[in-house]
Amino acid sequence: MSLQARPTIADGQLFIDGKFRPAEHGETREVVNPATEEVICRVAWGTVADLDQAVSAAQAAFESEEWGGLTLPQRGRLLLRIADAIDAHAEELALLESLNVGKPITVASAFDLPFASSVFRYYGGMVEQLEGSARPAARRSIAITRKEPYGVVGAITPFNFPLNLAINKIAAALAAGNTIVHKPAEQTPLSTLRLAEIMVEAGLPAGVYNVVTGEGATVGARLAEHPGVRKLAFTGSTATGKRLIATAAQTMKKVTAELGGKGANIVFADANLDAVTQWAHLAAFANTGQFCMSGSRLLVQRDIHDEMVERMVARAAATAVGDPLDPRTEMGPLAHRTQLERVMEYVAIGKAEGATVVTGGAPAGDGRGFFYQPTIFTGVTPQMRIAQEEIFGPVLTVIPFEDEDEAVAIANGTPYGLAAGLHTTDLSRAHQVSARLQAGIVWVNAWAMFENSIPIGGYKQSGFGRELGPEGIDEYLQLKTVVINAE
Ligand code: NAD
Repeated sequence: MSLQARPTIADGQLFIDGKFRPAEHGETREVVNPATEEVICRVAWGTVADLDQAVSAAQAAFESEEWGGLTLPQRGRLLLRIADAIDAHAEELALLESLNVGKPITVASAFDLPFASSVFRYYGGMVEQLEGSARPAARRSIAITRKEPYGVVGAITPFNFPLNLAINKIAAALAAGNTIVHKPAEQTPLSTLRLAEIMVEAGLPAGVYNVVTGEGATVGARLAEHPGVRKLAFTGSTATGKRLIATAAQTMKKVTAELGGKGANIVFADANLDAVTQWAHLAAFANTGQFCMSGSRLLVQRDIHDEMVERMVARAAATAVGDPLDPRTEMGPLAHRTQLERVMEYVAIGKAEGATVVTGGAPAGDGRGFFYQPTIFTGVTPQMRIAQEEIFGPVLTVIPFEDEDEAVAIANGTPYGLAAGLHTTDLSRAHQVSARLQAGIVWVNAWAMFENSIPIGGYKQSGFGRELGPEGIDEYLQLKTVVINAE
């Protein structure tokens, strides 16, 4: 893999107004490969002044003929060209994602990249169908509704799915006609910097999509505060989300907030346990557990608790943990050192709370890279911190339950409400229990089945607003009513 030595990113540069350039003071920070701890390259450490320039560029692009003057078919075709360009660069983008995040190259190639281009294609196809309505008003007058873009959208994304979480926002925002200033996560900015360049090569006018790398507390906070930004699309932790919503309220920005989760995956005794084992393993350990929608709590009906634990332990112990570029690898490292330390801290908390580690519970590998073993806790009670707080690592807590009522009470008993799942062969139970679960998505006899047409988002403190599906584009459109007096 020659790109490992020569990443395709212009070292130490921001992307503003269609061009790479250094940050205002020329400051840069290292980007680290979490599998080797080697420096991949440096990125620009943007300032508030850089952010303000990016917003100015996005405002100018919004008002330009090159972007604002496009017809709907032209805009739709441009999004389809971007989808094709992503496919044409899929191998390179998958490699960047794997090097920067530590996710297995097989997963980045088979899931992240095809999904990324499919979202552009989905929203590209939707552009021509954007329409308003005409309604009769008094005295033969008429009221027309128009859906209009907000203008400049601020996007802030976390480290775990850098490309996909950005594209869920970018494709919908562009389809609606907005322009964007994006602040990616400090640790994993590489794929979106390269995407910016690819989009301009595909014909996106300068200034429509800008990337300002840097710190959340400075450039991210400025994006939430900037009066020229009319809509904020945030994905990240609930704690940061609360701060950003408060800041954005000062200028009455429309906000979508995709926040943390502590997904409950409920297994009833009548389920097909072979299938459950595969789904529950994926739910807990996909993306090394750095997955907002992970099924990090496995709720198991008491009759099958011991058998289910045995199966999960065997599957976890068989996980191929290692080099993300090795096609045999199932699970890579945590994406950065702080995340590894957080996992180690939570495992210590779980032990101190009296839970038992039945597999894992220690770093993996030879000490190089941020690897951790897939870890399972039993003897967990619903109120323990490891059952309430988002660990965001490969740590599964198993909690027994007696009946449906208890399962639902435990599942709903956290401040979060992002994703949930249940496994049963009883159709009426599937309907009834899924209706009672407080979560933005519920998977039945599955986990993590995503489509570009299926909306995702949170209940409770997992946030509000939806990404993907037709609902996703509505988040980037505001409604204007024009009343025409016929008299
Ligand atoms: P984080 O909240 O620490 O950071 C997310 C982004 O916010 C980063 O770009 C960061 O720089 C920025 N940021 C941090 N402080 C800021 C501030 N004061 N002002 C403005 N921006 C600021 O989250 P993380 O550790 O990168 O990601 C993990 C979290 O993201 C988890 O809680 C996870 O559940 C959540 N997440 C949610 C979804 C979803 O769809 N709901 C998807 C992925 C991740």
